[in-house]
Formats: sequence, structure tokens, C-alpha cells
Amino acid sequence: MEEPSALILRATQFAALKHRDQRRKDHAASPYIIHPVTVAHELTLAGITDPEVIAAALLHDTLEDTETVPAELLAAFGERVCKMVQELTDDKELPKAERKRLQVEHAPGLSPGAALVKVCDKIANITDVTHSPPPDWSTERRMQYLDWAASVVAGCAVDNDRLKQRFADTLAKGRESIKAFLQLA
Ligand code: NDP
Ligand code: ZN
Repeated sequence: MEEPSALILRATQFAALKHRDQRRKDHAASPYIIHPVTVAHELTLAGITDPEVIAAALLHDTLEDTETVPAELLAAFGERVCKMVQELTDDKELPKAERKRLQVEHAPGLSPGAALVKVCDKIANITDVTHSPPPDWSTERRMQYLDWAASVVAGCAVDNDRLKQRFADTLAKGRESIKAFLQLA
């Protein structure tokens, strides 16, 4: 049986290699890997210690944003981790608006582990949209992103009060700070 820390570090290493040439959309073009690591950290802040859920957080954008295929995740991390990552992957063949709509529609059907990662992903992205947004986004677009993220999370069945509170606080502070920016503009 593999040690939990070994699984988590293997997932970190796998994701770091897969995302090695990618950057986030913020002004500083941060290395992509900071995002999955932040999502995994959000889980631990809420007291979630299941190593397979933490691994799924670290890997959650590999299928969607890199050349990774499910068979690689299955071989390296097993069926449960692979399935969670698949649940967290949008179909990139679909137009963006449709992908956004489907995230809202599919949220209630997510497995418990995938729902936890989904909420942490939205906490991380709301934090980014609040403090380090893509430079070309208007305040209206940033607000719309927060509204959409809130509607996805509203559908996620998550049995963790700390995580729900953390999401609510992140959303409220984000709205407040973007609104303040709107009033200044
Ligand atoms: P995108 O999906 O293009 O970008 C957001 C995604 O990019 C995030 O979910 C995140 O995904 C990733 N990302 C990488 N770096 C950052 C960063 N620094 N900050 C935030 N996200 C980052 O955006 P949307 O199309 O969702 O646009 C947001 C909203 O704006 C939508 O609801 C849409 O309706 C609306 N919109 C408004 C327009 C306007 O001009 N008013 C134009 C287009 C859309 P991940 O975690 O997967 O990496
Ligand atoms: Zn993500």
C-alpha cells in the first residue's frame, strides 16, 4: 500500500510535467502548476485528507488542458482518481457557453470527491479573478464569472461546513472588491 504522501507527490510531479509549458492568464503569467497546487491546498484547509481526492485536485486540469489521456491516469493513479478527473473535465469540442451551462447542469451529479474538488477549483478561480485576473477582463466580465461560479457551486452536494463557509467568504469578498473597483472606475 502506497503512503498517502507518496501518492500526493507523484500526482504533483505528474501535473508539473504535464503543465510544464503552460501559464495562467494573470498579468504575471504565473506558472500553471500553481493553480492545481492551490486547489489541493484548499482541500486541506477544509480538513479534507483523503489522498485520492487531493491527487484528483492536483490532476484536475490535465485531461482538459494537456495531452494527457485517461488511460495514463488510470495506470498511474487507479480508477477512482481517473474517474474524478474525468468528471472534472469539460468537453472542449463544445462551444464555451454550452460548456458553462453543462457545468451548472452536471454539478448535482458529481461524485462526493469530485464535488469537493469542484468547489475548491471555484474558490481558487474566484480568488484569481478578484486579485490577479486576466488583464483584458472588464469588471463586468469578472462579476459574471463570480455569478457563474456561484451557480455551479450551488448545485454541488458538499458535506463540509468549513468548505461551504470558505466558498461563501471568498465569493462575498470577491464581489465586494470588484464592486469597489467598479465604483472607482
Ligand atoms: P474563461 O473560461 O475564458 O476563463 C476563465 C478560466 O480560465 C477559469 O475558469 C480558469 O479555468 C482559467 N484561468 C487561468 N488563469 C486565470 C486567471 N488568472 N483568472 C481566472 N481564471 C483563470 O472565461 P469565461 O469565458 O468563463 O468568462 C467569464 C464570464 O464572462 C462568463 O460567464 C461569460 O459569460 C462572460 N463573458 C463576458 C464577456 C464580456 O466581454 N463581457 C466575453 C466573454 C465571456 P481552469 O481552472 O480550468 O484553469
Ligand atoms: Zn482548475
